[in-house]
Amino acid sequence: MNIEATINTFAQKLHGTACRLVAVSKTKPIAQIKAAYEAGQRLFGENKVQEMADKQAQLPADIEWHMIGHLQRNKVKYIAPFVSLIHSVDSKRLLAEIDKQAGKCGRVINVLLQVHIAKEDTKFGLSEEELYELLQDPALSDLKQVRIIGLMGMATFTDNREQIRAEFKGLKTLFDQLSRQTTADNVEMTELSMGMSSDYTLGIEEGATLIRVGSTVFGAREYKP
Ligand SMILES: *Cc1c(COP(=O)(O)O)cnc(C)c1O
Repeated sequence: MNIEATINTFAQKLHGTACRLVAVSKTKPIAQIKAAYEAGQRLFGENKVQEMADKQAQLPADIEWHMIGHLQRNKVKYIAPFVSLIHSVDSKRLLAEIDKQAGKCGRVINVLLQVHIAKEDTKFGLSEEELYELLQDPALSDLKQVRIIGLMGMATFTDNREQIRAEFKGLKTLFDQLSRQTTADNVEMTELSMGMSSDYTLGIEEGATLIRVGSTVFGAREYKP
């Protein structure tokens, strides 16, 4: 299926739901992103700062760029002027740096806190305990240039659908609990990012508001060795 047809299929699937597609365009050329854009797609996800900044400069200004990959503090400044949502915040130090760089740009940057839900230790993210600790930190409300608007999680890399579903359910439960609590003024839990090509249907079923889909939209990625 071509990119335009796939984008249209997702639009139909998600129509009338609270879930939106982040088209993950990492490693993919400008022409393919343009094809998705022409089909109406506006949310794109990248996992590398330099690549995202290069693409942003060449593409229409109404694209919402989502940083979905692990973000180093010293690189925040390159995306702060334009990034729409950072899904992968996993420390207070990173949050503070985003706040600082957003301030320099006169912006408020929306972020998600990445929670470790997989039964693997290779993936990034906060434990539930670290998440609560961060959200209960009184210093959080001093970070006026960031807004925490939800959570992101990546399930275990497995064929076991029930395990993936259970991990997503756990994240949704946590999200619902936090949505009912008031912490700082700059925290409002509205977005839940879970699901990629292999498991986005489970993500949607378990309450995702954002799915991050790459290869199903653009085809398999080729990595240079
Ligand atoms: C690459 C990536 C995706 C998309 O992966 P696909 O399997 O190609 O859909 C989703 N989330 C993150 C964090 C990624 O790095």
